Amino acid sequence: MAAEQNVPQLGGYDYEFTGRVPHDYECLVCHLPMKDPVQIVQCGHKLCNICKESLFRLPSPFCPADRQPLSREQIFPDTACRRKILDLTVKCFHSGCLWTGELREVEEHQSNCLLKVVQCPNSRCTEKVTRQDMGNHMASECSWRIIYCGYCQKLIVFNQQKKHFDICQKFPVHCTNKCGLEEIPRGKLEFHIGEDCPATEVYCEFKKLGCDVKFPRSNTKAHLETHIEQHLNLALRSLETTQRQVKDQSQQIEQLMAKDKDLSQQIERLTAQVKVQDQHIKLLNSPPFVWKISNFQAAYEKALSGKENILTSTFYLSSNGYRLRIQIFSNAYRMRWFPDDFLSSTTYFSIYICVIPGEFDPLLSWPFKEKLRVTLINQNPCEDKEKDIWRVTDFGRVDLPIMRPLTEDNQSCHCVLGPIRADTLQSASFTLNDTIFIMVKKE
Ligand SMILES: [Zn+2]
Ligand SMILES: [Zn+2]
Ligand SMILES: [Zn+2]
Ligand SMILES: [Zn+2]
Ligand SMILES: [Zn+2]
Ligand SMILES: [Zn+2]
Ligand SMILES: [Zn+2]
Repeated sequence: MAAEQNVPQLGGYDYEFTGRVPHDYECLVCHLPMKDPVQIVQCGHKLCNICKESLFRLPSPFCPADRQPLSREQIFPDTACRRKILDLTVKCFHSGCLWTGELREVEEHQSNCLLKVVQCPNSRCTEKVTRQDMGNHMASECSWRIIYCGYCQKLIVFNQQKKHFDICQKFPVHCTNKCGLEEIPRGKLEFHIGEDCPATEVYCEFKKLGCDVKFPRSNTKAHLETHIEQHLNLALRSLETTQRQVKDQSQQIEQLMAKDKDLSQQIERLTAQVKVQDQHIKLLNSPPFVWKISNFQAAYEKALSGKENILTSTFYLSSNGYRLRIQIFSNAYRMRWFPDDFLSSTTYFSIYICVIPGEFDPLLSWPFKEKLRVTLINQNPCEDKEKDIWRVTDFGRVDLPIMRPLTEDNQSCHCVLGPIRADTLQSASFTLNDTIFIMVKKE
């Protein structure tokens, strides 16, 4: 059988020739049809160029036929012989190949010969097959071929297919609950068991209301149909409980609202108290007006003559407040005009307060509504202060409200103390050192 190598390292062509090769074409060294033949000039013997080189490696080269010494100058390539040898017809040495052709073509044929055995190119495959079988090997025989998984379409190595099927999420598996379903993609098995599988044990949907029964999902309808009454009872009880809870919560809300109301009222009361205290503070901050009338006797006598009012004085009770006038009248003045008046027999004095045009009137509220205490001061240190003569007048409640006065003349006056008998006024308690004091104070 021919060697696998195309070209033997030494010597001539080791092929199977179709006809007999003339003896003359055979090398004297290797005895094969010569490759690149050379001829020895003296003897005419021929040999392969390669085989010639092996002779020249000897210490004293010689012709193998006649043992005559050799020199390189005596040797030349035999081109005619070479061509004749290349014209010879040979068979392809690949097993089973029927090709025959000229020796010069054999190398090219063999490099393309479909019956040449080659290594499978799939990495890790050690198989060798003929070129013509390689397509089939790689497509359907090689255990290292790359294929698509028929379920998930990922690329896998053929001999790893079984391992892959054990984990492939789309590989069809049987329901592990044994419901009979056989082709569930592995990735959907969990959902099937949890949500679909008729064999999965489930709780009654009235579990939260108290029905603790568990049964295969396929029995759900039957259970609901046979337990209508029990379920209604459970629902009713649950409804009652809910209603109780709602009622409790409503009560709690009501209590909270009541508390809230209490707190609001407390806040209102406190606010009102603060307001009252504010007013008190304001009152404390607005000092009383004290009218000191010296030389009272002279004025008093003038009044007794009935000629004029006894006295007047103008004042403010607070900065930026109303401008007021206080005046004392005696009925003596009145007696001149009304001698039959029932008070005529005695002399009386009355104290009036008038609101007169002031600087701040545009800023003030009208009608005038202040509450004023007017006191005739008892100056006797031995007597109790209770003995003062006083009266409080609420101008917000008088019959004729006091509107803003536009001129000094259209003033409105109101009696705030009196009538006081003239002898009372003249007594030592109220007139001391010919002086009396009248105090006006906001209430
Ligand atoms: Zn040879
Ligand atoms: Zn020779
Ligand atoms: Zn071949
Ligand atoms: Zn292979
Ligand atoms: Zn797969
Ligand atoms: Zn199932
Ligand atoms: Zn139930």
